[in-house]
Amino acid sequence: MFKKRISKSQFMMGLQCLKRLWLYNHRRDLMPPVGPEQQQLFDQGHAIGLLAREYFAGGVLVDADHKHIPQALKRTAELTGGGADIIYEGTFVFGNVLVRCDILKRNRDGSWDLIEAKGSTELKDEHLRDVAVQRYVLEGSGLRLRKTLLMRIDNSFIKSGPLEAGKLFALEDITKETSALLPETGRDLERFTETLASAEAPEPGIGRHCSTPYDCEFRGHCWKGIPEYSIYDIPRLSWEKKYMLKAMGILLFKNVPDSFDLSEGQKLALKVEKSGEALLDRKKLAKFLKKIKYPLYHIDFETVMPGLPLYDGTRPYQQLPFQVSLHVQAAPGAEPLHFEYLGDGLNDPRPGLISFMLEKIGPEGTLLAFNSSFEMKRIEELARDFPASGAALLALIDRFEDLMKPFLERAYVHPDCHGRFSLKKILPALIPDMTYEGLAVANGGDAQLAYYNILSGKLPPGEVERLRKDLKIYCGQDTLAMVKILEHLIEIV
Ligand code: SF4
Repeated sequence: MFKKRISKSQFMMGLQCLKRLWLYNHRRDLMPPVGPEQQQLFDQGHAIGLLAREYFAGGVLVDADHKHIPQALKRTAELTGGGADIIYEGTFVFGNVLVRCDILKRNRDGSWDLIEAKGSTELKDEHLRDVAVQRYVLEGSGLRLRKTLLMRIDNSFIKSGPLEAGKLFALEDITKETSALLPETGRDLERFTETLASAEAPEPGIGRHCSTPYDCEFRGHCWKGIPEYSIYDIPRLSWEKKYMLKAMGILLFKNVPDSFDLSEGQKLALKVEKSGEALLDRKKLAKFLKKIKYPLYHIDFETVMPGLPLYDGTRPYQQLPFQVSLHVQAAPGAEPLHFEYLGDGLNDPRPGLISFMLEKIGPEGTLLAFNSSFEMKRIEELARDFPASGAALLALIDRFEDLMKPFLERAYVHPDCHGRFSLKKILPALIPDMTYEGLAVANGGDAQLAYYNILSGKLPPGEVERLRKDLKIYCGQDTLAMVKILEHLIEIV
């Protein structure tokens, strides 16, 4: 049988979906180019990998890249056969699998420890499979392994001064677990070899595996026949129920039978999807509106979540608010005043953001956010990290109301939302002349990317100014959208 060599990442693709492995090898032309968000994640992963090496400092890097594999193999053999005690990116082939190992550490008895560095804060099943296939190849190549270890980020770490790998990372011994996976690994490799030798792509059908454990790059290809507003858009519907509907030949949301087992919220969304008419519970909506006290502060944060903490006192993957937009209304229907704060991209944005909020938000009135638990949690974290302002910040939390609530609780179900209740879905449905389309920064992901680009310090000043302007337009649009949505709710009640 034709045996195509696969890499460790292709092995992981095969575990996720055989078709993904096949397409990657036979139809790479269907892959979209790497987008800026994905590139940012790659860059972050690379930075974490470099720092992880400092945990086992003094090693020798096998620097021949993926285009020079014979050289990488030769250099690795020299290093393992010679005197190197720590090797980065050691490269091995066994059977038809090629792996490159983050870190290999030689023990006194001549055995080796294999260390895989991950940016994750917890051990996941896919990490075990990832290390098991490396172990399979290393042992198959004749290397004597003593331990296999996962190096992950310790989320109890709090930055204080320069980042130290010894404090940021935690090591977990997964020797037993990877040993138990070796027979399965061999069987999987046989399956993958057979799949790759086939002239036809396997057809597992779309499903949960398209985004679990990783987002598949072939979604654009495999999902292209799925209609808009399909069963895959039904909010919070389990995959098991989606599979059931698909087996019944139902793809469109509106074709789901009334008798199908749905939650109350899903049933209401289906009713609206079928009738095309909005559902309104005036009493519920009026009850919600009654809770709003003026002056009213429409508030929205933008945040980044860096894996490697940027500022002293912060933790890995902590949500750091860098921007806030406020639209303030003195009374119902009053013209809103707009205020905003955006970090300078040079310093920790949070002290300035706290001062801004405490200065602009008066002692009375409601703070209205869309999905307010997010803003409340960030304020709670700011109070924890900046105790001098803690009491004043915590006092804000009690004043929050959530503009998502009437939609979430189905007080108002609009047919153009098609069962969804995000701000980006609700705004164009209720206020058709306001849209996020055409904005250079049009969602939270874009905003994060723009701020990371500013933080990089690599942009020319003109570009920084342009991004800052785009960020302000976007965040301002979020709170103005809330003003308009609230006006709409008041009007219909
Ligand atoms: S989109 Fe889904 S079905 Fe298609 S290759 Fe990817 S994981 Fe497999």
